[in-house]
Amino acid sequence: MGSDALQAGWPLAALVLGLGAAGVALLAQPWWTRRRHRQLRTLPFPRAWARILQRRVPLAQRLPAPLRRRLLGLVQVFIADKPFIGCAGLKVDDEMRVTIAAQACLLLLGQAGEACYPRLRQVLVYPEPFVVPRRQMLPGGVVSEQPQALAGESWAQGQVILAWSEVLAGAADPADGCNVVLHEFAHQIDQDGGDADGRPWQQDEAARQRWAGVVGEGLARLREAPSEALDAYGSTDPAEYFAVATEAFFERPQALREAAPPLYGELAQLYRLDPAAW
Ligand SMILES: [Zn+2]
Repeated sequence: MGSDALQAGWPLAALVLGLGAAGVALLAQPWWTRRRHRQLRTLPFPRAWARILQRRVPLAQRLPAPLRRRLLGLVQVFIADKPFIGCAGLKVDDEMRVTIAAQACLLLLGQAGEACYPRLRQVLVYPEPFVVPRRQMLPGGVVSEQPQALAGESWAQGQVILAWSEVLAGAADPADGCNVVLHEFAHQIDQDGGDADGRPWQQDEAARQRWAGVVGEGLARLREAPSEALDAYGSTDPAEYFAVATEAFFERPQALREAAPPLYGELAQLYRLDPAAW
């Protein structure tokens, strides 16, 4: 589970599950699902949705034309496949669906095929940051339970929970490296495989080792000193490091490439994308 506090620095235990087996999961999609997804992707993109995309997801405007076309197709698949559930009285509308789906699908643009978060079952949307009780171990072994406001959360059981106000804020500035949708869906990608190795989509051993080295070194550096490109929350653990690095990769690619070339290179291979060139 990735739990993302509004204030960075909470010692949250996030379950890091790697994606070594993700390729297997993707390949295991039944043919009728693949066919249905192919059909969905070729449907004309509704004009009202295009207007929402234009207004709410400036990050999508940067995309080269082929990737933008692919994004529109993936958004159709995502919205057709994934139930959105409004929480705390929120009524989910197309603006929410398109804004969330488009940002989630940015992470899939470089992947081949029609698979679209095969293990994701629901997206839960709260109007504002939602409050959950959090247990903390205090000195002396005392356990305290404090309420904590979260912008988003990602569960290994296939749920992403988002605060709509935070989704809007994250999308509105496409260059601040702060985006709760990219963050939580990076956790979903990380959780997709089953192994706690934090190496999504990488099946070859050399690449896995290289990635582990880059993450280990980057984490140590971030714990020592703040980074120009990465939010300090990434120093929590490898799962948060990957999620925070994903936010920077899509929103501040040039800064990330300059500050941490090996990390940028690994993410470019992982996502099969080069956002610094967009
Ligand atoms: Zn997180």
